Amino acid sequence: MTTPFLQIRNIRKAYGDVTAVNDVTLDIAQGEFMTFLGPSGSGKSTTLYILAGLQNPTSGDILLDGRTLLDTPPHKRNIGMVFQRYTLFPHLSVGENIAFPLRVRRKPKAEVDAAVRRALKLVRLEGFEDRMPAKMSGGQQQRVALARALAYDPPVLLMDEPLSALDKKLREEIQYEIRRIHQETGVTILYVTHDQEEALRLSDRIAVFSKGVIDQVGTGTELYANPATRFVAEFIGDSDFLKGRIEATDGKSADIRIGEHLILPAVSVHGSARPGNEAAVMLRPERLTLSSTPVSTAGSLAATVKDVTFLGNNTHVLTETATQEVLSVRLPFGHEAAGSLRPGQPVWVSWDSSSAHAFCT
Ligand code: ADP
Repeated sequence: MTTPFLQIRNIRKAYGDVTAVNDVTLDIAQGEFMTFLGPSGSGKSTTLYILAGLQNPTSGDILLDGRTLLDTPPHKRNIGMVFQRYTLFPHLSVGENIAFPLRVRRKPKAEVDAAVRRALKLVRLEGFEDRMPAKMSGGQQQRVALARALAYDPPVLLMDEPLSALDKKLREEIQYEIRRIHQETGVTILYVTHDQEEALRLSDRIAVFSKGVIDQVGTGTELYANPATRFVAEFIGDSDFLKGRIEATDGKSADIRIGEHLILPAVSVHGSARPGNEAAVMLRPERLTLSSTPVSTAGSLAATVKDVTFLGNNTHVLTETATQEVLSVRLPFGHEAAGSLRPGQPVWVSWDSSSAHAFCT
């Protein structure tokens, strides 16, 4: 087996009593776009800072091309960085900002000038060399920060919530630019965000962080279709949960009783699945459907419509089952039931069991 390009090996970081990162291990391939996704405080930035050399781990190792990085100071790691706030030098022009890391590396002037022009072209800011950062928009400043990080051609680029200070439209525009730049340069990117949509849009793979550990690593599709934990199921996409109890199981799938009359056959189970254990059954709102009679080939529960919201490409219907469980349903635009639903109306909520996942504690 070939050595992985970048290896994070059993990294732990404690600040006094707080364990910010607890035994994180991850391999990243050369040229991969890997995103650390998770809520605030889950250890994403700390892991990134350890890669950058801005923090030292309490234990564990980081290897690039099979060699430890821990004894290399940050400025010698050859890793580019772009952070949340535009960290441009305000007293330097755009061109001087981008040239800075190359000057520090004592590159000859002709090489620096060519690299600055190349980097500006990459972020589509040709001709902006002499502009001062204060005379540019937030999005332009962040593109300059990106150009500066890429100018000396680092093999690895770290990005910590680089777009969080920008409005939605600009954020989407620059996400598109970042994807293009990733494809054009082949640079390996580690990207931190708490925004699932951003992670899905950008990444080859996503590592989902929760409380200092990685719950699951996979492509967006894998995480969405096969979440390993309830946390991942809730964090990627929308989810509904029904309380159930395991009737029978082979450890991988289980027959799960919901209420008195319904048994869901062969649902994928995660966690400690034993007969009699409680299980939270996850359903995706867009995989649910509504009808006036139960659907015999699928799981169906009687419910009452609580609220109906038209959202353009889908209609969001909030329903409540006889056992007071709330199921949110998303009907695609044009669904025959969507137009006529009213609060208080009885309905049957149905789903295909193959889209269900059960999580046991
Ligand atoms: P994230 O990037 O996912 O928001 P962080 O890695 O910044 O999370 O933080 C993880 C945990 O470590 C949090 O509980 C945070 O309060 C704590 N933490 C981070 N940096 C420090 C620090 N310098 N001193 C003490 N605690 C810290």
